[in-house]
Amino acid sequence: MRPIQMVDLKRQYTKIKSEVDSAIQEVLDTAAFINGKIVTDFATALSAYTGSKHVIPCANGTDALQIAMMALDLQPGDEVITPSFTYIATTEVVALLKLKPIFVEVDPKTFCIDPVAIEKAITPRTRAIVPVHLYGQSAPLQEILDIAARHNLYIIEDNAQAIGSSYRFPDGTVKKTGSIGTIGATSFFPSKNLGCYGDGGAIFTDDDTLASRLKMIANHGQSRRYYHELVGCNSRLDSIQAAVLNVKLKRLDEYIAARRAVADYYDKAFNAHPKIKTPYRAPYSHHVFHQYTLVLDGVDRNGLNEFLAARNIPSMIYYPVPAHRQKMFANFGGGNYHLETTDWLTERVISLPMHTELDDEQLHAISDAVLEYIK
Ligand SMILES: *Cc1c(COP(=O)(O)O)cnc(C)c1O
Repeated sequence: MRPIQMVDLKRQYTKIKSEVDSAIQEVLDTAAFINGKIVTDFATALSAYTGSKHVIPCANGTDALQIAMMALDLQPGDEVITPSFTYIATTEVVALLKLKPIFVEVDPKTFCIDPVAIEKAITPRTRAIVPVHLYGQSAPLQEILDIAARHNLYIIEDNAQAIGSSYRFPDGTVKKTGSIGTIGATSFFPSKNLGCYGDGGAIFTDDDTLASRLKMIANHGQSRRYYHELVGCNSRLDSIQAAVLNVKLKRLDEYIAARRAVADYYDKAFNAHPKIKTPYRAPYSHHVFHQYTLVLDGVDRNGLNEFLAARNIPSMIYYPVPAHRQKMFANFGGGNYHLETTDWLTERVISLPMHTELDDEQLHAISDAVLEYIK
């Protein structure tokens, strides 16, 4: 059996090697390393794929979130509602911009932000909501859009884990996640569902005015060289990464199908077990399984993690410390929050290997080992 990895980028690369290599070679030959045509081609292709009118490539997913918040002209002290159960980048940029992160609960079934908790957290200073499509499944966007409309709030979708996923509105309309809120942000970190071979990210919006602000902010606040209208930053997707992404975007749906097949395998293996809760698939979302995350009840979760490791099977805890318990947020009232569901999940989740290259022999070994430990 081939060694099992959490993510197998090497094997995925060998299958597209000739195409990726010649795309990278083309960048080397033209020497257009920054802002080459290849970057605009990628943005155009991604816009067609997601249905988002404007796609602004940038340096990484964290920058994408930061630039989104900068473009909305939020003022110091303005409140931004985010889940605590997320990757740190979601909440970190809020604090970095001197805004106030307000941490709310997630739904224990979907791991995504709970609309009821959002509504309760709204104050006169609330300006934006950041739903995170955690593990690859859409947050319940219709409810969030309704709340935002009632209270005049912006929505910034953190789509770093869910590119290619979609949300089905109650009226049957289906839209890609990241293209639904005021602004969407995503990451092309190598292990993400659409990953490049370094850092990369993108920002999405349908709003023309916002799009030009986002573009300017990502480029030192200028639209005309050396004339700086806004305080911005330097956040670019380089041409070599765009070359890789052009090759991989064409395969994204195929990659998602491979991930979903892995999830189906795991579901079958674990569904009947009383101590294992397999990922809930919300009827309104197309789950793209960035992670396959189990919730264990009455099991020594960390013990399982070590048991698997001893058998050369990696597993991960996403995330071992929720945002409201991070030292970073001690001065933001982090210690005063009581987020029982978030804490409960933090102690019980475990993510199994999930990528496009897992074969049945590996999946068999992983699920056997899990079931051997849990019994
Ligand atoms: C990966 C990730 C980010 C940040 O992306 P980077 O490209 O690593 O900066 C933000 N939010 C979530 C939920 C993520 O998973």
